[in-house]
Amino acid sequence: MKLYNLKDHNESVNFTQAVLRGIGHDQGLFFPDEIKPFSKDQIKELLSLPLVERSQKILRHLIGDDELPELDDIVADAFNFPAPLVKAEENCWCLQLFRGPTLAFKDFGARFLARVLQAVRNGRHLTILTATSGDTGAAVAGAFHGQNGIDVVVMYPQGKITPLQEKLIATLGGNVHAIEVSSNFDQCQDLVKRAFDDEDFRTRIGLNSANSINIARLLAQVTYYFEAVAQLPSDKRDHVVFSVPCGNFGDITAGLIARALGLESRFVVACNVNDTVPRYLSTGKWEPRPTVQTLSNAMDISRPNNWPRTEALFKMQGWKLSDLAFGSLTDAQTEDSMREVFAKTGYITEPHAAIALSVLKANLKEGESGIFLGTAHPAKFRSDVERILGTRIPLPMALQRVIGRECHKYEMTPDYDELKAYVLQTLE
Ligand SMILES: *Cc1c(COP(=O)(O)O)cnc(C)c1O
Repeated sequence: MKLYNLKDHNESVNFTQAVLRGIGHDQGLFFPDEIKPFSKDQIKELLSLPLVERSQKILRHLIGDDELPELDDIVADAFNFPAPLVKAEENCWCLQLFRGPTLAFKDFGARFLARVLQAVRNGRHLTILTATSGDTGAAVAGAFHGQNGIDVVVMYPQGKITPLQEKLIATLGGNVHAIEVSSNFDQCQDLVKRAFDDEDFRTRIGLNSANSINIARLLAQVTYYFEAVAQLPSDKRDHVVFSVPCGNFGDITAGLIARALGLESRFVVACNVNDTVPRYLSTGKWEPRPTVQTLSNAMDISRPNNWPRTEALFKMQGWKLSDLAFGSLTDAQTEDSMREVFAKTGYITEPHAAIALSVLKANLKEGESGIFLGTAHPAKFRSDVERILGTRIPLPMALQRVIGRECHKYEMTPDYDELKAYVLQTLE
């Protein structure tokens, strides 16, 4: 697989290099040189396969035969949980991506990345530095916990992730180090970017990223869009619409790569009031505003770092941005969406999926099958969900286990020098 840097087209790398570097010169994202579509027959065959086997074929097709001989084992080991498609209401299905160990769709990408890095690190010690608005950190911490030769430093904004999310990050210990930063997510992300620009620091600690800028995560997520269609009744597969709750726009970029591979579908961008992209799509102006805290905290991002990839993909495929449907919801509308589907069918959503469902319904046309992504288990947002729906929801085992444990974290302001000092001291 060949990839190039979106900001410097002369920087060309293979998959292994892109995974190890995370991000290219000048903070440019790596992007595939080409995406060869499957034939119609191949797509049909793929849709008849079970999740793991199909995902192995898709990823082998994308990555190529020359790299990563361990790919099949990595996929089987990483994707060891299901992604059921569950009907929520008429013509609207939820792809439940929250059946993994940290109950978020990010388990797919993080578990795949952890195993790929283990396979390609070649004896080098690695340090994963990641900023999280909640679920990334939990998924990454869980995916890398106990991996030999790899340390993980997870930064999260103070008071802006749920106590449960924090437990999933800060109770693991061992090779997982938690930092609570008194700032918002964007500032955490800026610290990560600075660390990557710091050549000396970077080589010294074998710095790597596990954010959705890492191409391995993105490619892993391509696979479950096929899984969704495979689970639709066969007479419902012709006009599929995916509604994706967007934060950094990694998930939807993965979906659009699935489309570029030949999975026929249309896409809807679903945001909360941090709606830089919906406003861009309607006015053509890129005008990020300060990030606002909402119920759907994993989408509280006003400078989505994967958006350049989304645009690059549209350009590469000759698609028009105007084909991308979009919508955004306030918290009050999000609550209404949760209550509406619960009253209608008893289906329980959490704020992220509820936004995707509502924006999906607003954009769904006659004869289309709508699929919205269930990116987190409702129990991860338990207190909000219980308050909004007026019903109790049980805590899954994965959360029960961590809830009684104590958090161990380092607290700091968004100060780069302090971050650096802490990391060096912790790793030595
Ligand atoms: C990360 C996350 C999102 C946003 O995904 P992106 O790939 O960043 O767009 C949506 N919902 C939940 C629950 C998440 O954790």
